[in-house]
Amino acid sequence: MKVTVIGAGFAGLAAAVGLQERRHQVTLLERRGVLGGRATSYRDAVTGEDVDNGTHLMVGAYAATFDLVRRAGAEDLLLFQNDLHIDYVDDRGWSSLDCPPLVAPLHLLVGLLGLRLPWSVRWQALRLGLAARFGEPPLGLTLAEYFRRTGQGADARRLLWDPLATAILNETPERAAAILFYNVYREAFLTRRDASRLVFLRRGYAELHERVARYFRHRGGVLCRRALAESISIEGGRAGGVRYSQRAETRDEIRRGKQAVEGFVDADAVIAAVPWNAAADLMPEPLRQQPPFAGLARLGGSPIVSVEMWLDKRVVDRPMAGLRDSEMEWVFDKGAIYGRTGPPQHLAFIVSAARRSAARTNPELIASAETSLRRYFPAMAGAAITRSLVLREADATFASDPEAEALRPGPVTPVRGLYLAGDWTATGLPATIEGAVRSGLAAARAAEAG
Ligand SMILES: Cc1cc2nc3c(=O)[nH]c(=O)nc-3n(C[C@H](O)[C@H](O)[C@H](O)COP(=O)(O)OP(=O)(O)OC[C@H]3O[C@@H](n4cnc5c(N)ncnc54)[C@H](O)[C@@H]3O)c2cc1C
Repeated sequence: MKVTVIGAGFAGLAAAVGLQERRHQVTLLERRGVLGGRATSYRDAVTGEDVDNGTHLMVGAYAATFDLVRRAGAEDLLLFQNDLHIDYVDDRGWSSLDCPPLVAPLHLLVGLLGLRLPWSVRWQALRLGLAARFGEPPLGLTLAEYFRRTGQGADARRLLWDPLATAILNETPERAAAILFYNVYREAFLTRRDASRLVFLRRGYAELHERVARYFRHRGGVLCRRALAESISIEGGRAGGVRYSQRAETRDEIRRGKQAVEGFVDADAVIAAVPWNAAADLMPEPLRQQPPFAGLARLGGSPIVSVEMWLDKRVVDRPMAGLRDSEMEWVFDKGAIYGRTGPPQHLAFIVSAARRSAARTNPELIASAETSLRRYFPAMAGAAITRSLVLREADATFASDPEAEALRPGPVTPVRGLYLAGDWTATGLPATIEGAVRSGLAAARAAEAG
């Protein structure tokens, strides 16, 4: 079967690799030169270090993602915690969620006992754990309402749930759909102990995607970069190919001022693995007004803002920390994660569901990151910032509210031979790497089933 996949993010790559491995003839069109879509990176010309478009974290439950990474021979890029460990700091000092090597969910229970929390909060956390074990929240419920129904008070939310939930969902509990948090909570915390441990990447994400793409091409797949899919050809209710325009690809072509060329790739099946706000544009006009494409216009976006910073000496003494009561919610020691311990120290700060931060200026955001360092890390007194960057992703993820849950389509469309993939499709997960990979696999299976 000839398959054209549009979009080389995690979803498109997972679909393309899976189909190519099963000996289909796959062409992958990616509009950018760099792969990875919303999980990508570039090499900073000044420091020579990889800068992600925003720090990404994985958890041990990302089974489909790790399987893809292993098949592509890129497992060496994964850095696994032994057991879940998260440090938090606030004005009262440091505290850690340190889960021992016990069977799930006992590991979490003991971890929660070790966190510096009022006993009332621990008790409430236990209540939520029990509620999650014995039944899922109804669709349409916000996470804030679910917290209320499961007896989570203001302290439990502030000290425990809200920072975790906002990072996982890229949405505030007031807006987010409870079912998504519940699904992640069950998969990561209640199934296997190792499902909850954090997993970092030892390089920028573009490196991982290059490795996956190399594997895909090695197997005979065709990758066209800078190839913007313009429309999907649909005749007689069936998708038959993709029209695209390809800009100059190699440095030499760019230097020579090569013009974009129009192309058409015919296909027995097309998988659109583009973001939710780009999918409908690929359809002919009448189809855009019909389900599921019409509903996609009602999916909103939620921003993520990151600050990358280099310091002339080591100030942050752990790979990551939750900064409670601070605009910058998390800080990561990227240098250490990349395996480099000496100065300069390369840090990354991240703010999720960052509607307020996104409206601030770069100097304000950098000052805010610096304030967090001065507040929580005494070594900052003798350190200087040597470089800083602000990265904004306005539509980092779809806004995962209850209404969105009802609009997320599955992989199969009313057009024969046309399938959808992406973190925004109906995966049951929030917009995550794992959701994207699973969606790509689901679209590939659907395409094969015809
Ligand atoms: C800053 C940030 C931080 C995040 N943190 C985390 C995290 O910690 N953990 C986690 O699991 N997830 C995280 N996410 C979410 C995660 O990045 C996404 O869920 C995932 O990357 C989405 O993959 P995708 O393949 O569905 O879509 P995308 O990555 O958006 O891929 C779509 C691809 O389609 C291409 N494309 C679009 N239109 C066309 C066209 N017409 N023709 C050709 N190509 C086209 C795009 O260029 C892109 O490469 C984060 C996201 C951001 C932005």
